Amino acid sequence: MLFHPQSSLGRSLQDLLEQDPSFRTVAYFSMEVGIKTSIPTYAGGLGILAGDILKSAADLGVPMIGTTLLYRKGYFEQEFNKEKWQIEKPALWQPEQELTLLPNKVSVAIKNRDVHIRTWVYELSGLSGYSIPIYFLDTDIESNHPEDRQLSWYLYGGDNLYRLCQEIVLGVGGLRMLRDLGYNNIETFHLNEGHAGFLTLELMREMGYYDPEKVREHVVFTTHTPVAAGHDFFKYDLIEKIMSSDALATLKRMIPSEGVSMTELGLRYSRFVNGVSKKHAEVSRKLFSAPTIQSVTNGIHPTTWVSPGMRKLLSRHIPGWENDPARLIQALSLPSEDLWAVHQASKMRLFAYILEETGVPLQSDVLTIGFARRAATYKRADLIFSNLKKLIEIGGGKIQLVFSGKAHPKDDGGKALIQKIINTSDKIKDSIPMVYLENQTMELGRLITQGVDVWLNTPLRPREASGTSGMKCTINGVMNFSVLDGWWIEGWIEDVTGWAIGPTPSDTDLHSYDESKDALDLYEKLEKKIIPAYYNDKGHWHTMMKNAIAMNGSYFHTHRVVAEYCEKAYGVKFRGI
Ligand SMILES: *Cc1c(COP(=O)(O)O)cnc(C)c1O
Repeated sequence: MLFHPQSSLGRSLQDLLEQDPSFRTVAYFSMEVGIKTSIPTYAGGLGILAGDILKSAADLGVPMIGTTLLYRKGYFEQEFNKEKWQIEKPALWQPEQELTLLPNKVSVAIKNRDVHIRTWVYELSGLSGYSIPIYFLDTDIESNHPEDRQLSWYLYGGDNLYRLCQEIVLGVGGLRMLRDLGYNNIETFHLNEGHAGFLTLELMREMGYYDPEKVREHVVFTTHTPVAAGHDFFKYDLIEKIMSSDALATLKRMIPSEGVSMTELGLRYSRFVNGVSKKHAEVSRKLFSAPTIQSVTNGIHPTTWVSPGMRKLLSRHIPGWENDPARLIQALSLPSEDLWAVHQASKMRLFAYILEETGVPLQSDVLTIGFARRAATYKRADLIFSNLKKLIEIGGGKIQLVFSGKAHPKDDGGKALIQKIINTSDKIKDSIPMVYLENQTMELGRLITQGVDVWLNTPLRPREASGTSGMKCTINGVMNFSVLDGWWIEGWIEDVTGWAIGPTPSDTDLHSYDESKDALDLYEKLEKKIIPAYYNDKGHWHTMMKNAIAMNGSYFHTHRVVAEYCEKAYGVKFRGI
């Protein structure tokens, strides 16, 4: 049996395995996993999604195991110099305070050396007491060559060779570690993005003969990147320097080409492949000429992202919603005054933080727009500043802006974008108060997605595969104002759950659409709909807040995502707790 939640209540996966060795599990592999701020092993949406999925699996009693790397130096801490240029400092943390070191050791061959790997475990406890383990692989062991010790130091650091070595540790080393821990009945390996794709190579080695179909039977692959340039690619010239000749020969049989695209490895050696929203699945089917790619739209873990006040309010009116978020439909009947009071409390909590950090006093009765996510250029954080004169005309004295987000250490475009936004705030601050908060973490992300009034999202289509920060807003009654891409195409009802920016997917001239027009539409909606609704029609605003919780919050959560993976991808009947 793959999955028996009734008997798993209050137990750990290890207990169940000891009791029933035939117990089958799902192993979820992710380059980054974000569980909480004090374990800084995530860079953005991909890792936090992984953490949220594992949390829902724990809540629901689904026997999953997480596997990732330890990253002793964390994902960096962000500071700005005098020129407002991003500076990175190591985000040092204490694994020994957060995780438990296990005695198990395995090794992988890298550059003719045996790299020893040990693992730490985090026991993720769900709402009903059932817990699942997340394994953090670590090569920083004395017996390793100094270079190899650093393989588990930096998330997305170093060059292509460093990344290749890390992905061997994650995919090959990760599987060997799970075997060493006694997991011999893993039914499904779920690759969250291509980084752990070398796991398929290790599965092939384990079988002792070449049978792609047998490997495929055990692998599920989720792609997250809708542009070809975003995928890891390793030339065989490089792989040759790192892997043993046996491994290289097998790999060349698996992918007969100049090198290995980790996405291609995932696509070819999985029984089920999905994109992370309906639109993204459609784009991926075209991009990879793979008509069978399915969609499982992302979600967020409700009790991680809901504000303390909102959680209490919801629990009072919808008891049990935490482990059955579909019931949030009943949020339509929340009392408006209570909802508003809870929202204002979150807003004041955010503003207190902002005052303390920046000295800027924001006003709790002024419409506040938030934008916080990785500062990747395709996300166009500066779109709202396309025409400063117009923005001040429309929003002067009526809006405030809260920004945050880290640029990847090597992304000078992203750093220039942040610099431009911070410099813009000096120009407009007399009419539009604005802050760029340093060092976005999960905790800061929580504060912002709970405490602003409107969540702005202006990516270039179709680059936002799903997006999840806007979902965090929905359960907190924060309104989405977003380009129609990723999840928002599925969640958006104009003037009901939020507002769209730019054309709708059914507009006929989409292929020739000029993306710079998005700014005009943004200004138009801000002026004609959002500002008037906020200041002159609070009743409508309150209704929209309830709609967001009821219509979006009830669907865009990881309990639904995990149930969907169980049914569509893992092939188990989902029963829930
Ligand atoms: C949710 C979250 C993200 C993802 O934001 P998107 O808008 O989906 O890109 C990134 N960083 C942090 C800290 C988050 O909490």
